Amino acid sequence: MLIDASMTHRVAIVGAGPSGFYAADGLLRSRPDLRIDLIDRLPTPFGLVRAGVAPDHQGTKAIVRQFERLLAQPDVRFAGNVEIGRDLSWEELQAGYDAVIVAIGMAIDRKLGVPGEELPFVWGSWKFVAWLNGHPDFRQGPDLSAVKKVAVIGNGNVALDVARVLAKSADEMAKSDIVSEAGAAIAAAPLTDIYVIGRRGPEQASFTGNELAEMGRLSRAVAVADPAALAVEVPPGDPTPERLRKARNLEILKGFARNEPGSKPITVHFVFNRPTAAIEPGEFDLVITCIGYEGVAFPKGEGVFPVGWAKRGPSGTIPTNRAESHAVAQQVIAWLKERDPKSGPDPMPLSVDLAGWHRIDKAEVAAGARQGRPRVKLTDWKALLDTAEG
Ligand code: NAP
Repeated sequence: MLIDASMTHRVAIVGAGPSGFYAADGLLRSRPDLRIDLIDRLPTPFGLVRAGVAPDHQGTKAIVRQFERLLAQPDVRFAGNVEIGRDLSWEELQAGYDAVIVAIGMAIDRKLGVPGEELPFVWGSWKFVAWLNGHPDFRQGPDLSAVKKVAVIGNGNVALDVARVLAKSADEMAKSDIVSEAGAAIAAAPLTDIYVIGRRGPEQASFTGNELAEMGRLSRAVAVADPAALAVEVPPGDPTPERLRKARNLEILKGFARNEPGSKPITVHFVFNRPTAAIEPGEFDLVITCIGYEGVAFPKGEGVFPVGWAKRGPSGTIPTNRAESHAVAQQVIAWLKERDPKSGPDPMPLSVDLAGWHRIDKAEVAAGARQGRPRVKLTDWKALLDTAEG
């Protein structure tokens, strides 16, 4: 049966990151006739996968191949360089589409709220990782030229990402897509000590085992911990998966405690039970807070469906979003079932479309191939937009 496109529901997904793509996937599985616009304020899709996943974790970034297949669907449009609130208001969006899915994530560093936090050597992990990843809004990184001692505050996987990328050698980063300036700055920095600092004990850390174990396999860095801090039990009341995760963390940390500080050029110290009351110059040359994220407000109400971090806060790995976004997609489908498709002109002011993104992608991959790397990212807004235009 031929479907009259003018009679098909239109869904806007704001935010072309993992939760947005999984929502599109969930929608199309039940309603392949839907017209879906995946909107992003950047000229590039993939959100956190491009800007947040550590540049040396290319295996995690490989998920974009699945997302590209969704973008290739005939009724899915990529609408890059479209900012809601600038190019189109939320009201216009709600008026023009039959449903709006909000997949904007959380891209503001949570604050410690302590004196000294505004000092120039204190960085939030979002800003820092966005710099490593070539986000066009974060092209200026910290000056690492005299940085010997770094404090990484937080005991989650982002803290491990930050500590690991700083600790890895240039050889270990060679096959990553870290931006060249950041890679060169880290390689040239006189780093000697990285302190990963938790405010609670090791049995409360939210690291996952594979990521923690990776810290024990670095060529120029040795991971160490104070054995006295590790004489703790996994909380018996925790659910079984949590107890298993925490027990594995403790085992790995006990292995680190047997290592010799200073036996490699950089020592990564895992420090526990050390809340940060204030940040003062002197102790560390650089402090990177990895303590979670906040989001910006968006309209809540009829026909608006948040997903991913915008819905549940900054937790969970990328695959966590799949089941949740699929469940939200079912809510959207139930909502649409009760409504006739809206008629009216195409509300989307298209700027960078799929072909534009593919021109950027091709240019980046070609530049990467010349260096034996997955890609060399374009980090300048003008270069991105010019390349998209072709
Ligand atoms: P997270 O796992 O929630 O860790 C945040 C850390 O910040 C916790 O250790 C928390 O300690 C600490 N913290 C919060 N407020 C603090 C304060 N005022 N002072 C000191 N410490 C404070 O979050 P994340 O590391 O930002 O990661 C976000 C999500 O992305 C997580 O689900 C993570 O697993 C995921 N992720 C996954 C990967 C991967 O799979 N490779 C990589 C990166 C991120 P308390 O526990 O005491 O609150």
